[in-house]
Amino acid sequence: MDYHPSARLLTDRNILVTGASDGIGREAAITYARHGAKVLLLGRNLQKLEAVAGEIAALGLPPASLYVLDFATATPACCQRIASEISRRYSRLDGVLHNAGLLGDIVPMDKQDPQVWQQVMRVNVDATFFLTQALLPLLLLSPGASLVFTSSSVGRQGRAGWGAYAVSKFATEGMMQVLAGEYAPEQLRINCINPGGTRTAMRASAFPQENAGKLKTPADIMPLYLYLMGDDSKGETGISFDAQPGRKPGAAE
Ligand code: NDP
Repeated sequence: MDYHPSARLLTDRNILVTGASDGIGREAAITYARHGAKVLLLGRNLQKLEAVAGEIAALGLPPASLYVLDFATATPACCQRIASEISRRYSRLDGVLHNAGLLGDIVPMDKQDPQVWQQVMRVNVDATFFLTQALLPLLLLSPGASLVFTSSSVGRQGRAGWGAYAVSKFATEGMMQVLAGEYAPEQLRINCINPGGTRTAMRASAFPQENAGKLKTPADIMPLYLYLMGDDSKGETGISFDAQPGRKPGAAE
């Protein structure tokens, strides 16, 4: 995406990123902070979150706050507690990037381990919903908030072997569409990003034989992540965007 926002695009915005400890989420959190946002980093590993907060502090950007939550075991009550903790420190949320995700096993359906299947659904669907429900009141206090889910090409067109992950990403697209129908876009816009093949640990475990050097980096795909969090996307809702439009799904060639 050819988008060059001002460095002040997100000034005074409070933006929460899930899975902010690594990969695309880490990059998005740092990028939002670079564009003026106060970022709330949510993840399951405090040490990794502290490292990202340290990078943000070293750049002289507004300090990040950290929230530890393991999506594999998160309950609605845990998510309500996180929302209460946030509301003690912030008057509202202007954006949430749902980015945390679990790949599970890349095996045919008849070999999917039911426990791994449930874990993928818990992380990618259930906890994402519980947290969304808990955070909605804080988002609705913003004059125009943005809620962004993370999808995948296998969440739009099923692919053999992608089992629980693909099914969970179809559910993510569905969650986005249902929510988008429930709010006026000027109040809360809700969209999905399909990052497309991006150089991260998850990608390497899905495609171990691939030449990672041919993939875009998380930094390369940030223009869409910025566009959807800032005012330039006001009014756009219910859309599933590609961070790499035209990219053919599957291994990099
Ligand atoms: P990474 O594996 O690099 O990062 C995943 C993030 O999710 C990490 O911060 C990880 O935390 C967090 N996470 C995983 N499990 C849990 C959990 N149980 N509770 C809380 N946080 C958790 O993956 P990517 O950056 O590649 O993926 C980011 C998103 O993009 C995912 O939703 C993925 O499905 C999607 N995506 C990625 C593509 C790619 O090519 N990279 C392509 C299409 C979609 P921790 O650091 O503790 O492991």
